[in-house]
Amino acid sequence: MYFLFCKLFCSGAIGSGPGPGPLWRRKSDFFFGRRNITTLFIKLNHGCVTGSAEPLGEPGPGVPGRRQTAAHLRRQHLKGDTHLVFPSSASVHQLRRIRESIAAEKDQRLGRPSSQHPPPTTTTSTASTAVSAATPSLPSTPAPSAASPLVGSMGFFLTLQSNYQHVMVYESLELQQKARSKLPYEELSAAAVEKLNVAKASDPECKLGKEDFLVMELLRWFKKEFFSWVNCLPCSQCGGETKTAGSLNPSAEDTRWGAQRVESHYCQSCHVATRFPRYNNPEKLLETRRGRCGEWANCFTLCCRAVGLEARYIWDSTDHVWTEVYSSAQRRWLHCDPCENSCDKPLMYEVGWGKKLSYILAFSKDEVVDVTWRYSCNHPDVLTRRTKVQEAWLLRTISGLNVTRQQSVGPERKRELVNRLLVELVEFISPKKPKAGDLGGRGSGSLAWRIARGEVGAREAVPQVAEHTFTPTDVEKNKGLLHVRYFASRDQYQRVSNGDEVIHGWERGVWRKDCVFRKVENDWQMVYIARTEGSPCGTLSWRFDCADVGVKMKAVSVTTHSQTFNSGTVVWRMRSGQAVTEFLGDGSLQSFPLSGSTELVIEAELCGGEGALSWQHAQLFRQSLTETAEPSIEILLHFDA
Ligand SMILES: [Zn+2]
Repeated sequence: MYFLFCKLFCSGAIGSGPGPGPLWRRKSDFFFGRRNITTLFIKLNHGCVTGSAEPLGEPGPGVPGRRQTAAHLRRQHLKGDTHLVFPSSASVHQLRRIRESIAAEKDQRLGRPSSQHPPPTTTTSTASTAVSAATPSLPSTPAPSAASPLVGSMGFFLTLQSNYQHVMVYESLELQQKARSKLPYEELSAAAVEKLNVAKASDPECKLGKEDFLVMELLRWFKKEFFSWVNCLPCSQCGGETKTAGSLNPSAEDTRWGAQRVESHYCQSCHVATRFPRYNNPEKLLETRRGRCGEWANCFTLCCRAVGLEARYIWDSTDHVWTEVYSSAQRRWLHCDPCENSCDKPLMYEVGWGKKLSYILAFSKDEVVDVTWRYSCNHPDVLTRRTKVQEAWLLRTISGLNVTRQQSVGPERKRELVNRLLVELVEFISPKKPKAGDLGGRGSGSLAWRIARGEVGAREAVPQVAEHTFTPTDVEKNKGLLHVRYFASRDQYQRVSNGDEVIHGWERGVWRKDCVFRKVENDWQMVYIARTEGSPCGTLSWRFDCADVGVKMKAVSVTTHSQTFNSGTVVWRMRSGQAVTEFLGDGSLQSFPLSGSTELVIEAELCGGEGALSWQHAQLFRQSLTETAEPSIEILLHFDA
């Protein structure tokens, strides 16, 4: 039997006092004698069996005292054994959490109730009855029955339980086979190998593996080719726009596929409600291939499992879900958000979207893990929001679920899971400090990994669209007017002067573009054009030319919208011949004479901003996705007839 034995100690080399202070004093009041802990080691003693029933850090029989431990570990360290170094930024509070986690983990491994830490809480009869009804298969572990007296823990537990059970669906070999039949595995796999080779060629230090690239290929395919986002479905009768109008009763077929809720999307013209069942069964989602983040993460996690990636379903209590995939090459869990086609950008929610995170939990066939800390660079703030349940209750509950889940897990696999958990814990106690354009992947400095994530060579990564030039048609020549508008929400141009001709896609009306993209914030229902992450500036322009059609430009009127935050800047310019004029993107109509020129270029340059979010600090055409009538830019070009 294998036991984990962790030792925590303060390095004797630090601090100013004459001798090391007490590491902890009482079972229930664990603290460090020094504030300035710069180094702390967790040592994994593989195969070292301890029968000690004492909580960690309480020197007991079989556990060497702290001085002994320190000397022992220093020896091991000199011998080059595996150890994990705690970063100097780790706070006492975080270390306390880690210590509690490890203690709970140890109890779990030893199959012991974790009664000694933290102190037991009272159990309300209502809660325990409901819990036992909800969890008939749970063994007699203390976790679920020792319910927190805090209101809300019951709902929290039911959510945990539901996710805990749901992820087992992904393990059905039959379902995995079905998922594989829907995805181009050979293609994705070949692309992953090719990109791995490129990464290795460009970075001799590259330690990435094929699966790192496979997950990115899968993310790209899933978003670009497989799944689609649903706000409101088109009307089932006329295909026109609908609006959400409450919910409808689920049919037997809906509930068979886990849709407890059916949204009603109502068409004003036909007076018809189009049904949108929110399916929870990933098998059904392989067919419908649409939904919001719930459907996306659900189906994507299945696809990951189907191609042999280890994957977890991630639940965020602030109403979002995504996936994590284990990278054996990097020995860590990678954040993967299929809705955003994002890999290894864990800070995108807190730093990028401004979310106030509190609980983020990972669910897999092997375990439940509280992974909140990976997604935040401000742990004290997060802690103030963790008020739904008691931390002690949460630890015990998770631990109890893991005992059940791991009943049939063999010793080798258990060892692997513990090792991974320890690596994660070390990651968690060290909050990330985001740099400009960096949304937080640990050790994201590797060139190959940045190439893989599209942060280097962004110009090559963005598909180039043929340069577009607006040339007056015969109709427009006769009118003496070229009138075109672009709507960011619909991502559509309307060439009013040419019989309301529609051009789909912002890129298809653009002349030149460099490091810009159209950003859709599905959660906030906003859309805008911004520069790509990590680019100091982005530019795009529209070109009008009438040299070939024998007319001359007389004047132009432009109304456009741009928005900046912090120190972000947007500069609008108009070029005609040698003349360059700057103008404002403030929504006002601005007119300029063109005095007989034949070419006009309207351009925008996006720069500046601060920190990881600088790319978001300069935006063009920011608009609600539901605002479809307001043009983002409108250009009226007058000719001499
Ligand atoms: Zn309709």
